[in-house]
Amino acid sequence: MATYKLLILPGDGIGVEVMAEVEKIAQWFTKEGIAAFEFEKGLVGGCAYDAHGKAISDSDVALAQAADAVLLGAVGGPKWDGVPYDVRPEAGLLRLRKDMQLFANLRPAICYPALADASSLKRELVDGLDIMIVRELTGGVYFGEPKQIIDLGNGQRRAIDTQVYDTYEIERIARVAFELARKRRNKVTSSEKHNVMKSGLLWYETVIALHARDYKDVECEHQLADSLGMQLVRRPKQFDVIVTDNLFGDILSDIASMLTGSLGMLPSASLGEVDQKTGQRKALYEPVHGSAPDIAGKGIANPIAMIASFGMALRYSFGLIEAADKIEKAISSVLDKGLRTADIKGEKGDAVSTSQMGDAILAALQTA
Ligand code: NAD
Repeated sequence: MATYKLLILPGDGIGVEVMAEVEKIAQWFTKEGIAAFEFEKGLVGGCAYDAHGKAISDSDVALAQAADAVLLGAVGGPKWDGVPYDVRPEAGLLRLRKDMQLFANLRPAICYPALADASSLKRELVDGLDIMIVRELTGGVYFGEPKQIIDLGNGQRRAIDTQVYDTYEIERIARVAFELARKRRNKVTSSEKHNVMKSGLLWYETVIALHARDYKDVECEHQLADSLGMQLVRRPKQFDVIVTDNLFGDILSDIASMLTGSLGMLPSASLGEVDQKTGQRKALYEPVHGSAPDIAGKGIANPIAMIASFGMALRYSFGLIEAADKIEKAISSVLDKGLRTADIKGEKGDAVSTSQMGDAILAALQTA
């Protein structure tokens, strides 16, 4: 049985509560002889600041670099609102992304049939929805230089952000999208604004060339980012894998997330380059939601996004496809049975607690 090294960074607020449910599930896989997980634990976010004045310590970054995968809960909360900017809780997350060079952010938007009524769109538009948004995470306008506000001396100031992409950055993220599509419904929609942006034009031409060279078997279409935003709420099931830059990906993935009903349901993965020697890639898995200070400590957070993030680790870092499918089936089956945490309950019925939901998924795994 293969052994995988997991670094667990529960973080702050409900991060700690939802991570506890993942640990139960990982232990179950070990007990069943499916895969063994070795856990190491570290601190990130506000708890790390409280412990040693930094949002993550150098030694925990080193553990993350050495791990087969990192699982992160969530960071932040009002307690740390006043801490210096460079050690604020989010800085720990940004440092991990930067040091591990996690350039590909994968955000699935899956609408479980049992939850279709929780979506802001009509049931028929979202029932069975399964989209994967692949967002470039380490380049583009959030990082490009110059990035500054200058005083023009005439009572005006000028703000500059720079959108920069090199061919290799576009190729490597598009490759991730094409490879994923091959394992799904074989379709990639690439999105930019090549009608008004040079970086969009390079993106467009690079994806066309890569597709023609290496991925002719995959269907590839191009949609301008504004039009794609509109299509996401008009007819979302037309998409399989969407690949886009850092800025558009930030916006489009948030739109897609609302199609599925609740923040508590949404997992994500951030992947780095494949190591040519080991064939492995650095990877961090985390729910999309934050530390939810309004419900932290009450034991009512929905652990599904965190558990599904672990499922993504099994699929994308360890190639444990059957085990990952089992997790998805188990989640689906507890939802079909009507189990709901408070965030997805709606008007009717009683809500279950975080640990009751975790235990129900664990029980469903035995039969999934
Ligand atoms: P949030 O995602 O923490 O919460 C938004 C709303 O969704 C809240 O009402 C919360 O109760 C609810 N919610 C979120 N996850 C839930 C879950 N699993 N189950 C049930 N309900 C859930 O976003 P926010 O309130 O804007 O931010 C709170 C803190 O989290 C801030 O400090 C913010 O900076 C931080 N944050 C961290 C991350 C991260 O760690 N990746 C992401 C977003 C926000």
